[in-house]
Amino acid sequence: MRKTDPFGGYFFHQGKSGLSAYEEAVRLTKEMLMAEVATHLTPYSGKTPLELEKASQNLMLVSQKGEAINDVLSDLQETILHHTVRVSHPKNIAHLHCPPLIASLAAEMMISVLNQSMDSWDQSPSATYAEVEMVRWFCRKFGYSLASDGIFTSGGTQSNYMGLLLARDHFCQTQFKWDVQTKGLPREAHRMRILCSENAHFTVRQSAAQLGLGEEAVIPVKTDEDFRLCLKDLDKKLNQLFEEGLFPFAIVATCGTTDFGSIDPIARIAERAKKNQLWLHVDAAYGGALILSDRHRFKLHGIGEADSIAVDFHKLFYQPISCGAFLLKEGSHLQLITLHADYLNPKVDEWEGIVNLVGKSTQTTRRFDALKILASLRIVGVENFGKMIDHTIDLANEVANLIKGIPDFEVITGTPELNAVVFRYITGMGDVDKENQLNREIQQSLLQQGSAVIAKTSVHGKTCLKFTLLNPRTKLSDVEEVLQEISLLGKKLTVNKSDIAG
Ligand SMILES: *Cc1c(COP(=O)(O)O)cnc(C)c1O
Repeated sequence: MRKTDPFGGYFFHQGKSGLSAYEEAVRLTKEMLMAEVATHLTPYSGKTPLELEKASQNLMLVSQKGEAINDVLSDLQETILHHTVRVSHPKNIAHLHCPPLIASLAAEMMISVLNQSMDSWDQSPSATYAEVEMVRWFCRKFGYSLASDGIFTSGGTQSNYMGLLLARDHFCQTQFKWDVQTKGLPREAHRMRILCSENAHFTVRQSAAQLGLGEEAVIPVKTDEDFRLCLKDLDKKLNQLFEEGLFPFAIVATCGTTDFGSIDPIARIAERAKKNQLWLHVDAAYGGALILSDRHRFKLHGIGEADSIAVDFHKLFYQPISCGAFLLKEGSHLQLITLHADYLNPKVDEWEGIVNLVGKSTQTTRRFDALKILASLRIVGVENFGKMIDHTIDLANEVANLIKGIPDFEVITGTPELNAVVFRYITGMGDVDKENQLNREIQQSLLQQGSAVIAKTSVHGKTCLKFTLLNPRTKLSDVEEVLQEISLLGKKLTVNKSDIAG
């Protein structure tokens, strides 16, 4: 006899087969994750790339008939889960890579089950309006008027790209009466310039390249001793550009550089942008979260003057990857990039007041990621978000002070404005090349031991170590232990080296 619903156990639906299969999958997955997290005593298992590559070789022995979910889950746990970097461990302090809030994990379940697609209203009826409301909420927070608009993005990369895309098209429209979307780049495009600090994110250069302006269109402005954009140099560079007959059209201010968490003087930059009719894009991928902190919000002073803002929720807002937003002071500027597809967002929809978000994005099919930050804000509460952020900044300052007092170390960041601390292990011999090698080896050894996951970076030719203290559950004692390990490793590796040399 033929089964009436042969695929019923593969999908989530109201029938008995769907409900029970779903329930079992969720229960088993939850049990596996809870068992897995119980083994996470260190932030990484310590497996080497070679070991992982070898262990992965049997992953794709796909069977024709399918396997029991339990068997597959055990294999995945053994081969993959156990050797992931454990983002919620307090000693995972390397990158802008956050532990996700439980509220957002609940929302993620809903997002994938409901599987709304944010491109057209008929694929995301209520979700469209939820995203619109979420965007409005953030626009208001950043001081934008009702004329503002925005869209959820995959993160800072896409948001920065969109900011510069609109800046480019807006400039060509107003300056040359040229529509880039239909005609391509104008002849003058090779003379267009973007300014940003030399510590701005690499995606500014990447965007310039993708926008047909070339990386050399990005003019790096010097930074001060705290790695913030230097206004004097900005003025100098601007004058030079105008004198050379070039067209500076955009400034990117960074609110929280990826390495140092330093925040450019946004209000003062905004004055210059206004005076010279430049588009101001604020890359607040990292620091935008300060908007929720009563103690640190003042650091974003002037951000409401920006023409566009990039904010990431998968960093200091503790959301699962990916989740970000692009916010725009003048929502009407989005028309510069809106294309109309008959099957998704025909013009007649617009006349009838139907909102199809596809016209505001550089993506078509898009996840309902707005739901997770919405649920998190409501469940956790704005005040608690603020407290968590404050805690991480306090911790970063305590750690910076602690490191200053230890002769084995040199601190590179001054006073942390966010929660990054950059420093290096020093031998006291002043041999920079040797110390660079040593710091590299320290970072790698910690990862191989699995005892701490920290980052490395390079500052003025010096290899440095970096803590990004995003996790509000990381305590000073955790960081103290990591520092002790670094000291020990530094000494051990120095001795090994002199052995070899001798
Ligand atoms: C992380 C980051 C980006 C890139 O954002 P993604 O979310 O990784 O695409 C851009 N700018 C800054 C300052 C960042 O910290």
